[in-house]
Amino acid sequence: MITSKSIALISVHGDPAIEIGKEEAGGQNVYVRKVGEALGNLGWQVDLFTRKSNATQPTVVQHTPNCRTIRLVAGPEEFVPRQNIYGYVPEFVQEFLKFQEQQHLDYGLVHTNYWISAAVGMELKKFQPIQQVHTYHSLGAVKYKAVSTIPMIATTRLAVEKACLENADRIVATSPQEKEHMRTLVSTKGQIDVIPCGTDIHQFGSFSRSIARETLGIPQDSSVVFYVGRFDRRKGIETLVRAVSRSTLRDQQDLRLIIGGGWRPGQSDGKERDRIASLVEELGITDLTSFPGRIGHDELPLYYAASNVCVVPSHYEPFGLVAIEAMASRTPVVASDVGGLQFTVVSEETGLLCPAQDDAAFAVAIDRILSHPDWQTQLGQAGRERVQSHFSWDGVARQLSSLYSTLMLQSSQSLDPAIA
Ligand code: UDP
Repeated sequence: MITSKSIALISVHGDPAIEIGKEEAGGQNVYVRKVGEALGNLGWQVDLFTRKSNATQPTVVQHTPNCRTIRLVAGPEEFVPRQNIYGYVPEFVQEFLKFQEQQHLDYGLVHTNYWISAAVGMELKKFQPIQQVHTYHSLGAVKYKAVSTIPMIATTRLAVEKACLENADRIVATSPQEKEHMRTLVSTKGQIDVIPCGTDIHQFGSFSRSIARETLGIPQDSSVVFYVGRFDRRKGIETLVRAVSRSTLRDQQDLRLIIGGGWRPGQSDGKERDRIASLVEELGITDLTSFPGRIGHDELPLYYAASNVCVVPSHYEPFGLVAIEAMASRTPVVASDVGGLQFTVVSEETGLLCPAQDDAAFAVAIDRILSHPDWQTQLGQAGRERVQSHFSWDGVARQLSSLYSTLMLQSSQSLDPAIA
């Protein structure tokens, strides 16, 4: 009978212990780390497994007494774009098994993240009686509908995603919209629970606007439009920049656009950043736009609090952590009317939803919020309340914890000959 409270969260390409906000480091890294820490606080022994992507990285990083990241060597110890990582799955599985044996660990359950880790989890089930919970973070079936060039890896990805939905012990969709996509685009088989992503309601929401502006050196009477996230075309930063250039308030208010997020020169995020910077220049909004670079989670609460509106203009978003971070900070959100954003943002109550890529609609929505300060405060307060009641990491971890306990109990009963 399995009595172990040890669980493994697997995130092959999204290292939970690295800097967030650069290419390939975003919501998934935050999710795995925060869920892991919160589960640790609930008494689970949580090991977060990822691929070592740099030889100088420590193999083990202890986050809290019950939660640590373990980096396995699978493939070269250097950055490998996620579409090229699948080939290292067999090596990752072997290293995982070796680590488990060396450390005398017995994971009763693995929670895999993104399709590459789904493949790892399905392989592990062949070697040991282990429960697999899976979170997709992004669905190939949705993604490939929106891109013009389909990568070589697409067939494999779609097959793995379907097999995982049909065979994992439980799938966790982070929004009802994501669950619907799984059902209509992937398979009608398999069990899906909806458990959202969360945010730290103590970290976000602790500053007043005036303190935040004073700390960041932003004039108290300016109107601040804020974006934060990866530089990736699908994040729709172009729509935001075009919307701000169309704003009718440009001559009436001290309008400022802050575009936060890290980039690496020459890499795809660096190229997107350069493209956006050129567009800003072309549209004549250089004087009101700033690019502060990657914003750490120590400073991010200040930026949200200092802003009048946070814009999430993604072409598609399975969940979208930025929206709930802004809402937790009492900042209204203008977001694309897609995916998980339809679940987190309640249009006219906590912000406004606009058709994706429609810069005219985004301009109208941003202007509406900026020109009605009392309504802005109301939207912000309603957003804070919505996050407190639906999207705190502690609440999310409690729901996951109860799911894990149920699955582990079921599996121990099915293995116990006295019960079976
Ligand atoms: N982020 C950050 N600093 C940055 C850019 C992004 O801390 O400079 C964080 C952001 O706060 C959020 C995550 O990265 O927690 C992005 O998650 P989201 O779900 O919005 O998008 P994804 O990157 O998963 O597509």
